[in-house]
Amino acid sequence: MSSPTRVLVLNSGSSSVKYQLLDMRDSSRLAVGLVERIGEQTSRLKHTCRVTGEMREQRAPIADHEAALKAVGEELHRDGLGLDSPELAAIGHRVVHGGMFFTEPTVIDDAVLAEIERLVPVAPLHNPANLTGIRTARALRPDLPQVAVFDTAFHTTMPESAARYAIDPKIADRYRIRRYGFHGTSHAYVSRQTARLLGKDPSEVNVIVLHLGNGASAAAVERGRCVDTSMGMTPLEGLVMGTRSGDLDPAVIFHLERVGGMSMDEVDTLLNKMSGLFGLCGDNDMREIRRRVDEGDEVARLAFDIYIHRIKKYIGAYYAVLGRVDAVVFTAGVGENAAPVREAAIGGLAGLGLEVDAGRNAVRGDGPRLISPDSARVAVAVVPTDEELEIATQTYALVEKSG
Ligand code: ADP
Repeated sequence: MSSPTRVLVLNSGSSSVKYQLLDMRDSSRLAVGLVERIGEQTSRLKHTCRVTGEMREQRAPIADHEAALKAVGEELHRDGLGLDSPELAAIGHRVVHGGMFFTEPTVIDDAVLAEIERLVPVAPLHNPANLTGIRTARALRPDLPQVAVFDTAFHTTMPESAARYAIDPKIADRYRIRRYGFHGTSHAYVSRQTARLLGKDPSEVNVIVLHLGNGASAAAVERGRCVDTSMGMTPLEGLVMGTRSGDLDPAVIFHLERVGGMSMDEVDTLLNKMSGLFGLCGDNDMREIRRRVDEGDEVARLAFDIYIHRIKKYIGAYYAVLGRVDAVVFTAGVGENAAPVREAAIGGLAGLGLEVDAGRNAVRGDGPRLISPDSARVAVAVVPTDEELEIATQTYALVEKSG
């Protein structure tokens, strides 16, 4: 029998599981789906079989991740794609925090699980859910290779000068305080695809990647290696996001506690869940913000301007970090879809060789594309991200190598 070629990608959140089943012979999707509101009465499973085109939705309480994965397994089984299939080569898990230890995708064993567990204090919101997903999948298919692909891994090449905060290194080391960065799977995929779009090898180009989704981060990628990124010890640092403030004077936190009488948990919630675009104008969806801006809403306008100002600052900073830039690339929900964001972020940067061609920027499309004029010194591009494909690719490559 030929060797198995399917990879199931699992992205386990605290109350959700997103999954995709890919066939790595041609990177095609066989099935995609999502289980939401795990542990609530209103749980929902949405499943699409890409082979038959059939979509199914289940609304019944799903108590925990184990029940969720079992339900996913049953849905896949109905399409003849079950977890027990001999064609399944591996399961690839998205793991948010790999600390400094995990610099590449890793086959999961008990020691790896223990190390991911050790990182829970630095990623309390994410790693526990990722661990639950891994444990459940291992229990379902103990014989199958399971691979962890870390959001932080691509950033472990950052030099110490970019990764360290300017605090006492003894304190930093004791509490593992440093800049880890996130969205690494996306930055890795998008920077590689950008090189391909330019007809170059990744080792030949310097790229600034702007991953603008609900979470948002920028990365400076020098010859295929990340040298700086805007998220830090946690995803709170850097760009203005849907609900996160991004960069902030840390003294604001002391002030909120001492003068505002807020508890640390309240400040945490304020900065992570009630700030960013949402905090500024009450909306975190860029479509809605643009609609309001177009209607003359001044509050939405200011939120948009603050968002753009921060992006510009990072483009300038990473231009200086890299010294020479071949491309600035936009990706994720906002970056791929919001032409006004791209236009405003690049506007006024002709002195840096950055320009947007209005006609090209307005064209909607699914594939990688240039939006700068041919005459521009630096390419500006839109490259759709595909974290699931990247996780599947890395998982499959590792299993092939070790198998
Ligand atoms: P995440 O993976 O971080 O949840 P996404 O990368 O899916 O986020 O991006 C989601 C965001 O993309 C939405 O909150 C919205 O602001 C933005 N978005 C999606 N589609 C459009 C669009 N057509 N125009 C403008 N913004 C969009």
